[in-house]
Amino acid sequence: MDNKFTRINMKEQDPAARARNFDEVPYGYTDGEAVSEASRCLKCKKPLCVNGCPVNVQIPEFIGLIADGDFAAAAKKIKETNALPAICGRVCPQEEQCEKLCILGKKGDPVAIGNLERFAADWERENVSININDGVNTEKSAPAAKKAAIIGSGPAGLTCAGELVKNGFDVTIFEALHEAGGVLVYGIPEFRLPKQIVKQEIKYLESLGVKIVKNFVVGRTATIDDLFNEEKFDAVFVASGAGLPSFMKIAGENSVGVYSANEYLTRSNLMKAYIQNPSTPIMKGRRVITVGGGNVAMDSARTALRLGAEKSMIVYRRSEAEMPARKAEVHHAQEEGIEFHLLCNPVEIIAGGNGAVTGVKCVRMELGEADASGRRSPVVIEGSEFTLDCDVVVIAIGNSPNPLIPETTPDLKISEKRGTIVADESDGRTSKKFVYAGGDIVTGAATVILAMGAGKAAAKSIMQDLAG
Ligand SMILES: Cc1cc2nc3c(=O)[nH]c(=O)nc-3n(C[C@H](O)[C@H](O)[C@H](O)COP(=O)(O)OP(=O)(O)OC[C@H]3O[C@@H](n4cnc5c(N)ncnc54)[C@H](O)[C@@H]3O)c2cc1C
Ligand code: SF4
Repeated sequence: MDNKFTRINMKEQDPAARARNFDEVPYGYTDGEAVSEASRCLKCKKPLCVNGCPVNVQIPEFIGLIADGDFAAAAKKIKETNALPAICGRVCPQEEQCEKLCILGKKGDPVAIGNLERFAADWERENVSININDGVNTEKSAPAAKKAAIIGSGPAGLTCAGELVKNGFDVTIFEALHEAGGVLVYGIPEFRLPKQIVKQEIKYLESLGVKIVKNFVVGRTATIDDLFNEEKFDAVFVASGAGLPSFMKIAGENSVGVYSANEYLTRSNLMKAYIQNPSTPIMKGRRVITVGGGNVAMDSARTALRLGAEKSMIVYRRSEAEMPARKAEVHHAQEEGIEFHLLCNPVEIIAGGNGAVTGVKCVRMELGEADASGRRSPVVIEGSEFTLDCDVVVIAIGNSPNPLIPETTPDLKISEKRGTIVADESDGRTSKKFVYAGGDIVTGAATVILAMGAGKAAAKSIMQDLAG
């Protein structure tokens, strides 16, 4: 095929080697590879790719700058609309967004927009010392002493904090955990998103003046009303995410060796359970079963291998086509030797006399009619029970919002069905004056880029409302 239609893939660690270490899987582009890939872009007059980007990154412009070899300008161009490009370049589902709409995709491979975004951001991080006044709005007079509190330091909270501090606000982030970053540090593993990158983004925000108070649980340490009445904040942005794990509610689920994916990944990522003398233990199972088919399940199953499992298995009730995980992550998991048991559903977790897991009883499924999500729903095949042996089970079937803030803020409207905070997704305004919300706490578990977009929209509303 013509070179114009064939993308340059990033080189990656060998699957057998990487399945036993926590280093990042792709190495990133060299300068030459980035220029060649960028040169494939047709610089369309009406670039469809931009329509697919939730934060409206000016894609052909930054790609054009890479093609010209001006990498610093390319990074700056992306940062006009996306504050966390090194993170988005790694974890955004570009194949469903900008790349899905790229015109080159009609005849061959779409331009590798995500890889190029990562390249520009990494190049800037490694080669340019960032001027802390970059992007700071010195024209607009700062609304002196306007104080904004942000609850949660995930992508929604960090983005909102960045926008507000650059516009003169006094910003404090309150974070329940002992490290800032939300899912970016406790959920997504090092081999997909090196924590150093997240730390650097946070350090940059701190250098602009954002204060981060850790180990502070809003709803316990202080309520939202306390933040207004006692701490004299003028606005509060709730970005507390969806960190409450769902379980299957089947027999044996409280056996020794059953983890929620949240707990499993937090122990490994945030508390470094894989190093010697970690601050927390983790059961390094010999045979590990992860239940689920999303990114969280892929991350858990691949983490199990890196923790030393001889066999890591995915059990998912639909087929590969319905898996919500990114295709690239499914592919990486398959390359690393994860065993996929598709169209299977656990019905019981079996434990031995000491209460420790020995296996999972499953039934086989077939696909029936499409359900509300548009995916064909799985139907049990009668009499198809079988057992998979294992000593650790990780449940990765979804998360819902943490109920603490809804429970402790009586005048905040909450959706009955999902327990999410009701907020206008275009501006973050909630039912309570000067309280805004965005990210997973409003949408339910979604994506990094949507959370960032929500943080940005809420910051805009806060600036408008407080200017009056
Ligand atoms: C394992 C995993 C893998 C994922 N992979 C991808 C991916 O590849 N691509 C992608 O786009 N998305 C992915 N996602 C989803 C994505 O990470 C989330 O949609 C995104 O992080 C949501 O951002 P947020 O800011 O709303 O919340 P979060 O990132 O969840 O941050 C919320 C923060 O609020 C804190 N908090 C909660 N309650 C309180 C309280 N009461 N007081 C103070 N602080 C509080 C939490 O400790 C947390 O730090 C993944 C999620 C997981 C779990
Ligand atoms: S649609 Fe594809 S080819 Fe056209 S500008 Fe966007 S990235 Fe370039």
